[in-house]
Amino acid sequence: SFEIIFVGRSNVGKSSLLRELFGAKVRVGKRPGVTLRPAHVQVSDLLITDMPGFGFMSGVKDRKQDIVKDKTVHYIEENAERIKLGVLVIDSPAFPQIVDRWDSKDQIPIDVEMFDFLREVGIDTIIAANKMDKVKESEYGSLLDEIAIRLGLESPWQNWKHIIAPISAKKGDIKALKGLLRDRLHEMKRDDL
Ligand code: GDP
Repeated sequence: SFEIIFVGRSNVGKSSLLRELFGAKVRVGKRPGVTLRPAHVQVSDLLITDMPGFGFMSGVKDRKQDIVKDKTVHYIEENAERIKLGVLVIDSPAFPQIVDRWDSKDQIPIDVEMFDFLREVGIDTIIAANKMDKVKESEYGSLLDEIAIRLGLESPWQNWKHIIAPISAKKGDIKALKGLLRDRLHEMKRDDL
């Protein structure tokens, strides 16, 4: 039995993605910032955990964002041994500007911080680069390069196809992520033998 955790800012499409992947079993009808506790769903021998959305939440005080972050970090630390896989969901078209805005204030954006943290504690982490339906075909590759660079990965993004999965939860186009999840699960089963 092992656990996969899904993390991401509010509004990146994490709920939409979870619905596409696992049906309506995971958290639905949430309001950003209201739920501070992780939601769980068991899918055969997989424990799927939906962490509360972090980052900017309209109408929610800054402190609350820190609470969400602290709780997420605490949860990951407590359960690191059981958590075999992390999925960081990002809003691809918005991601480079968000990172640059924080950079200009000498701060690390919460997504990048979380990606680094997950990897630091030894959790294999996949980037679900969502909302790719909003991106023109001609800008597809350069956007993914920009995302890779801001995650501390070197371009071209194609070198990181085992980590970066461009998807559109809204369009139901999530095969890149499904492929990576399937690969990881397969590897783990083999390791268990
Ligand atoms: P969450 O707050 O991260 O759980 O995000 P939701 O799943 O509630 O989605 C937030 C908003 O983004 C909604 O308006 C969704 O319709 C929209 N959304 C989610 N996934 C996609 C996507 O792949 N493409 C586009 N264009 N919009 C999306």
